[in-house]
Amino acid sequence: MDKISVADARKAEAVGRQVRLQGWVRTRRDSKGGFSFIELNDGSCQGNVQVVAPGELANYEAVVKHLHTGASVRIDGEVKASPAKGQSTEVLASNVELIGDADSETYQLQKKGHSFEFLRGIAHLRPRTNTFGAIARLRHQVSMSIHQFFHEHGFYYVHTPVITASDCEGAGAMFRVSTIDPAEPPKVDGKVDYTKDFFGKPAYLTVSGQLQGEAFACALGKIYTFGPTFRAENSNTPRHLAEFWMIEPEMAFYELTDNMDLAEAFLKRITSDALKFCMEDLKFFAEKLENNKELFAKLENVLNNPFKRVSYTEGVDILLKSGKKWEYPVAWGNDLQSEHERYLAEQHFKCPVILYDYPRTLKPFYMKVNDDQKTVRAMDVLVPGVGEIIGGSQREEKLDVLESRMREQGLEPEGYGWYLDLRRYGTVPHSGFGLGLERTILFLSGMANIRDVIPFPRTPGNAEY
Ligand code: ATP
Ligand code: MN
Repeated sequence: MDKISVADARKAEAVGRQVRLQGWVRTRRDSKGGFSFIELNDGSCQGNVQVVAPGELANYEAVVKHLHTGASVRIDGEVKASPAKGQSTEVLASNVELIGDADSETYQLQKKGHSFEFLRGIAHLRPRTNTFGAIARLRHQVSMSIHQFFHEHGFYYVHTPVITASDCEGAGAMFRVSTIDPAEPPKVDGKVDYTKDFFGKPAYLTVSGQLQGEAFACALGKIYTFGPTFRAENSNTPRHLAEFWMIEPEMAFYELTDNMDLAEAFLKRITSDALKFCMEDLKFFAEKLENNKELFAKLENVLNNPFKRVSYTEGVDILLKSGKKWEYPVAWGNDLQSEHERYLAEQHFKCPVILYDYPRTLKPFYMKVNDDQKTVRAMDVLVPGVGEIIGGSQREEKLDVLESRMREQGLEPEGYGWYLDLRRYGTVPHSGFGLGLERTILFLSGMANIRDVIPFPRTPGNAEY
């Protein structure tokens, strides 16, 4: 008797084996012929295995006929070829043991489909549903593909700090980390005295590991980070979380076009791995989610065609000439909103778009200034269904330009001494980008809300579980 997963029990080669399965009852159906069907799931795959529980089982009347949705069970039996359509095997049980019952009066996950909004309210139980099981498996696969891609391409995985005392992008929207008692803060001149705080200065949760990543890229050549990032921006959109996971490769001796080539190869690899290893879950998304019939066409299109590369200036021209009415006005110098990004990727080019050379006023100080002095070597990757999925740039490698860009953005170069050292000693052209993991899962699955692609979402007003 081998303990095997439901995924393995569903494979044709399991036929004839005596096995032990452990999992949760999805449904039970009693047949007039005096036996029952149990749909068993253990999370190893999207599908269930059908267990046939014969009436001869000693506990058939007392236990089997009372198995509820959600109950945990241990089942011993033989894997048989299934006569039923749509499944190659089933399991004929010789023993069914109830481990933990699930009261059908109070258990919130009954058979019927629940809205995603309802499921957000039971985030500890939603991993047991088809959709959230599929999302968890897809997230796992994408994470593995990311590590494998970089490992195979000679990148080193670097762990950058989660707590930081430098406001990385001058973004401002950071969560403070402090042990000061808010009821009785130490004060100087009427203001909170952070020299008395844990780190002796104000500290925050990181919004990006990039600056520290650059220090390692300027020593190891090619590195990446993969960790949680935190943004206290109060944007209640289906694309923003207060806590999300970001992947940030940083490469010495890479110019902007090298950076684009890498971003494109990287996204293609993640996509092709998802198609290779998550087919059952992707099929489920294509069939069950609203407006998702074209999922496979979209993913194949991404794989098989080059990404369109156009400058910000050309992009703005296209938007101005589109004749569309925008919620946010389009003008050279304005930031692009999701509606603009999605128009370019979904309707105009109908493929992923890499938009580059943005106005310098829109982008952080560390992006390399172009010869025109008006734009910087930024690149955003926009994909159908999501909009911006990657933001990156070639970094400014000239010390004097970097310092003046900091001042231009109201930052004190003195506060970034260590970062400027990277330009002072052995500076090199280098580039990198940040990919949002949750935006990637939105793109691959066709899910509509970013709260539904992370296990326990943190958004303004919500940090439950
Ligand atoms: P946006 O304009 O969409 O708010 P951004 O330009 O502020 O994003 P970057 O600082 O460029 O984002 O971050 C790199 C990537 O991280 C983005 O391309 C996106 O995939 C992801 N990302 C950024 N902010 C969030 C967020 N609040 N929640 C989830 N993912 C995010
Ligand atoms: Mn960005």
